[in-house]
Amino acid sequence: MPKLNENYLNLKESYLFSEIAHRTADYVKNNPEKGAQIIRLGIGDVTRPLGKVVLDALHEGVDAMSASDTFKGYGPEQGYEATRNAISAYYKKNGVDVDTDAIFISDGAKSDTGNITDLFGSGNVILIPDPVYPVYVDSNIMRGNTITYISGNADNHFLPMPDKNQHADIIYICSPNNPTGACYNKEQLKEWVDYALANEAIILFDSAYEAFISDPELPRSIFAIEGAKKCAIEFCSLSKTAGFTGTRCGYTVVPKELTFTASTGAVMSLNSMWNRRQCTKFNGTSYIVQKGAEVVFSEEGIKECQENIQYYKNNAKVIADTLTRLGIRFFGGINSPYIWFECPDGMDSWACFDFLLTKIQVVGTPGAGFGENGKNFFRLTSFGNYEKTVEAMERFEKLFG
Ligand SMILES: *Cc1c(COP(=O)(O)O)cnc(C)c1O
Repeated sequence: MPKLNENYLNLKESYLFSEIAHRTADYVKNNPEKGAQIIRLGIGDVTRPLGKVVLDALHEGVDAMSASDTFKGYGPEQGYEATRNAISAYYKKNGVDVDTDAIFISDGAKSDTGNITDLFGSGNVILIPDPVYPVYVDSNIMRGNTITYISGNADNHFLPMPDKNQHADIIYICSPNNPTGACYNKEQLKEWVDYALANEAIILFDSAYEAFISDPELPRSIFAIEGAKKCAIEFCSLSKTAGFTGTRCGYTVVPKELTFTASTGAVMSLNSMWNRRQCTKFNGTSYIVQKGAEVVFSEEGIKECQENIQYYKNNAKVIADTLTRLGIRFFGGINSPYIWFECPDGMDSWACFDFLLTKIQVVGTPGAGFGENGKNFFRLTSFGNYEKTVEAMERFEKLFG
């Protein structure tokens, strides 16, 4: 009999999306007329189609596969040079220097944020914010790691700051944040970088929503902060940036400057380790997808993707403006597709879910699904249709106004 990884027994069952689906289906079954009016603002997935620039490049990739002189077999595990160069140039455009050989193309940020645990041993002090994107938590539980939660709450605007009395080895940060929509400024990220350097810790920075930042003062990359190349890995994704949730492409930046001394005295480079990890367990992202990804970072591609992002941000503004008028406290909604509001009248987040479903047929995501600190909060997303979002907010006005 195989000895199994019994750490899997310690994973909490994720009820969140199945419970939402179950409660919604029950309601529709028992109230078919009202059920037909349901508006879904819980969706964490994009809905706008890919643009022409990207589609043309994807088609070009497909056509290359049709002739023996342009056909592509296995590509480099790290990604094609042209795609990596395009990403490096994109960083440069945003004022950040990232070398091409620090960039690794993947099939998305979920894989990389989960797989990165391969590089770390046991016994680390691992800081993970609560509330949080569940991947960081579960991927550490699968390895039997102990997690130290740091509290995101209304008092710190869901932007926990380092506690100088607490040692850390590994720190997870997601900014702009899923689920709260909160975004760190430069001074705050500098504090985290200084803390990481002082602790010889590493920051695992999830920047999946960087393209939603429109305030030029807010950092879109941890590498906009001095010293970060010595203490941080950054995860990015084309999922929310370019509507690639179904097309699949992400990239991870592991600077060459990122080294630590092993117990043997050997100096270990995280860039070399990740390269070795990827070459061993990953055979590269599809050539066709990388052709599409490359043009996402061209001038035309950025413009095209920004049109969709503006569409979502306009939805976010409709939601944020409504909640402001109603005096409901919320976070996010400006440099993020997410709006994280405090459940009115002290409701807990599942009671709020039932209340919104039965009173106004609006479905969102209960904050409890993202951690203990989410239990009185509720996530709405701007990834839906504009007219439906407006309609949902009119119902909010009637219910809470
Ligand atoms: C959507 C999302 C990602 C992107 O994951 P992909 O695997 O690239 O689709 C990464 N991090 C967070 C926090 C997200 O919400």
